[in-house]
Amino acid sequence: MKKILVTGGAGFIGSHLCARLIKEGNDVICADNLFTGSKKNIEKLIDNRRFEFLRHDITKELLVQVDQIYNLACPASPIHYQYDSIKTMRTSVLGAIHMLELAKDVKARILQASTSEVYGNPNVHPQPEEYWGNVNPIGIRSCYDEGKRAAETLFFDYHRQNAIDIKVIRIFNTYGPNMARNDGRVVSNFIVQALKGDNITIYGDGTQTRSFCYVDDLIEGMIRMMESPEGFTGPVNLGNPTEFTMLELAKKVIALTGSKSKIVYKPLPQDDPTQRKPVIDLAKKMLAWEPSVSLDEGLKKTIAYFESSITSDT
Ligand code: NAD
Ligand code: UDP
Repeated sequence: MKKILVTGGAGFIGSHLCARLIKEGNDVICADNLFTGSKKNIEKLIDNRRFEFLRHDITKELLVQVDQIYNLACPASPIHYQYDSIKTMRTSVLGAIHMLELAKDVKARILQASTSEVYGNPNVHPQPEEYWGNVNPIGIRSCYDEGKRAAETLFFDYHRQNAIDIKVIRIFNTYGPNMARNDGRVVSNFIVQALKGDNITIYGDGTQTRSFCYVDDLIEGMIRMMESPEGFTGPVNLGNPTEFTMLELAKKVIALTGSKSKIVYKPLPQDDPTQRKPVIDLAKKMLAWEPSVSLDEGLKKTIAYFESSITSDT
């Protein structure tokens, strides 16, 4: 049983992580400024004596006595991270410094939720951890991509300079219950549009690819990484290597919801990666981890979540 800080714990992934850590008997402090997260995501935990919610912005310092820190705080959807791009960069960079200083002060192990976006629009496919990426430093996605890259740099510098016990994971597109309805990412957009009978909005021609990981699989990988032997820092890719085009995803969502929605095409946003798929050999070898939930299975659970969340609002 440990005392664990989860920053961004009221967000999509963070809320699943908090629930799992509590279930395993740990004490969890969730620090979140509720920019994209919500109290609803943690409402089932709020009365648990092992759970504590702190409304806190990680661009400010924090001192809490903990054994482990999962640093997830950062808006992850393009519409949200581009809303205040300077704040996004501050959250990644200042947030990483504050959490690493905390880890130093209280001698905690710290895990960084990095991203496949560090590979940018990759010209190596699929992406292994050794690939350094192809990132535009001055585009509209840069606040997120470069912010996360700088955070990785800080993690490795604190590790080399201050012997901080770090773990870095690179998360590939993850989906599931507790995504916000207005999140703007492709899986939640398509499902909400299909359930409401609205047009399904494909950006570009729909041939761009992503590889989608169900959230339960990701949480398992995250915890295995945190519990892995000291000295194994990563970075390690965590994602589902099965690749789909956005057109295939749209058709799947229409079929699984039985929706009458039509597909419409909208302009492709600037610097939108054309392909993305993780190499997960390192996670398989070091964490004995690989995803087990298929896209169909995961989409069914996510559709059921959005169905009940839409119904409970009407
Ligand atoms: P999310 O937007 O649902 O969660 C992010 C959480 O961080 C929210 O609760 C938000 O309120 C909080 N937050 C944002 N800025 C903050 C700040 N300055 N101080 C305190 N809290 C702050 O997104 P998510 O999908 O759950 O992503 C969680 C983490 O995983 C992020 O760091 C993201 O970059 C990373 N990640 C996610 C994916 C994915 O596909 N979901 C992929 C790669 C990386
Ligand atoms: N996308 C889309 N329609 C939407 C939302 C997103 O076609 O309503 C596309 C988007 O342009 C990108 C892919 O789906 O090519 C994944 O987008 P998302 O924002 O979910 O994740 P990211 O681009 O960060 O991987």
